[in-house]
Amino acid sequence: MEHDEIITQVRDTITKICSDFPGQYWREKDREQAYPEEFVQALTQAGLLACLIPEEYGGSGLPLRVAMEIVMAIHENGANAAACHAQMYTMGTILRHGSVEQKQKILPEIASGKLRLQAFGVTEPTAGTDTTSISTTAVREGDHYVINGQKVWISRAEHSDLMVLLARTTPRDQVEKRTHGLSVFIVDINEACQAGMEIRPIRTMINHATTEIFFDNVPVPVENRIGEEGKGFSYILSGMNAERILIAAECIGDANWFIETAKNYANERKVFGRPIGQNQGIQFPIARAYAQTQAALLMVQKATQLFDDGHDCGAEANMAKLLASEASWAAADMCMQTHGGYGLAEEYDIERKFRETRLYQIAPISTNLILAYLGEHRLGLPRSY
Ligand SMILES: Cc1cc2nc3c(=O)[nH]c(=O)nc-3n(C[C@H](O)[C@H](O)[C@H](O)COP(=O)(O)OP(=O)(O)OC[C@H]3O[C@@H](n4cnc5c(N)ncnc54)[C@H](O)[C@@H]3O)c2cc1C
Repeated sequence: MEHDEIITQVRDTITKICSDFPGQYWREKDREQAYPEEFVQALTQAGLLACLIPEEYGGSGLPLRVAMEIVMAIHENGANAAACHAQMYTMGTILRHGSVEQKQKILPEIASGKLRLQAFGVTEPTAGTDTTSISTTAVREGDHYVINGQKVWISRAEHSDLMVLLARTTPRDQVEKRTHGLSVFIVDINEACQAGMEIRPIRTMINHATTEIFFDNVPVPVENRIGEEGKGFSYILSGMNAERILIAAECIGDANWFIETAKNYANERKVFGRPIGQNQGIQFPIARAYAQTQAALLMVQKATQLFDDGHDCGAEANMAKLLASEASWAAADMCMQTHGGYGLAEEYDIERKFRETRLYQIAPISTNLILAYLGEHRLGLPRSY
């Protein structure tokens, strides 16, 4: 089947699935800060979360273009893919850099939905965006590594079986470049929790199942290291383009939801005896948000095409995330303003999605760091950080 046809089918499936999970479902989960388990199960059963896993490992072997449409459609339907999107790109680290044994053991289990690989452990409290300054260590002792340290903002760890973890295996002052000496591990979360790992949830302004994780002499078998020791930073970087493109697609989905919601309300709501959408003060911000979103979508599509064709897409993936997160935030603000007081009422879902879409200018990478990347790598300006 052609990819266009697959995309049409997949979008229909998502619309159907999302109709079983209306605003009320998301509002309840949001209020209780509860994981949308039933929604994730429905996506898993439909095979949607395994779309990027090659067919030989039980997935559908589809290009990023299809994954991008999947998460976009989820957000356009008022739902949220954050509960499960990590599985799509995190498994890429194993796929590209894992051993044959690791791939054969793990990928089919992820594809079938038996195992969840939703957690990605990079960020630390003291290092922040400066990833090469992380201080969580993995010290080799015979047939295993011993992990000590702390991670923060590790999402979905309580709802995942496995976590891809970045830790320092050679101290920073003993490596030639600061990007060297970092290694990536597959951590079995249940086993680790019985051997010194502690997960503590962080309550946030959105329902994101995010946590902090403490490692106290946690053993991880050597066979769980992905690729070569010391080269983990490059393995993590190689997965970041897919992550940024998928997050950008979620932002476009959010922006489309805000625009559609605002458009419908502006046509229906009558004040001073006419639809509010007849006023240019209401109509033009909706039109502007639409134009901004369409422009951002072009960059998301360009980055996706480059990625699927195997070309370098670092700058485009970053620009897609930057532009799409700004477009979704502008659309959120416009939608809230269009609704007047009702924008703040929970039952309209605008305030919830408004909070949710704000995250994307901060995570997985903040706007300033994208601008710094473009300044240095595309424009040849001096490195600013
Ligand atoms: C809800 C949520 C979920 C997350 N999930 C995960 C996850 O699953 N796994 C994971 O590993 N991480 C996760 N993160 C972490 C996320 O990637 C980081 O929060 C993000 O990269 C920013 O890092 P920081 O919060 O440490 O900010 P900091 O690095 O402390 O930066 C603070 C501010 O200063 C700015 N800044 C810093 N340095 C510079 C500079 N040189 N020039 C200009 N501006 C600068 C930044 O842009 C930012 O605005 C999550 C975060 C959140 C909030």
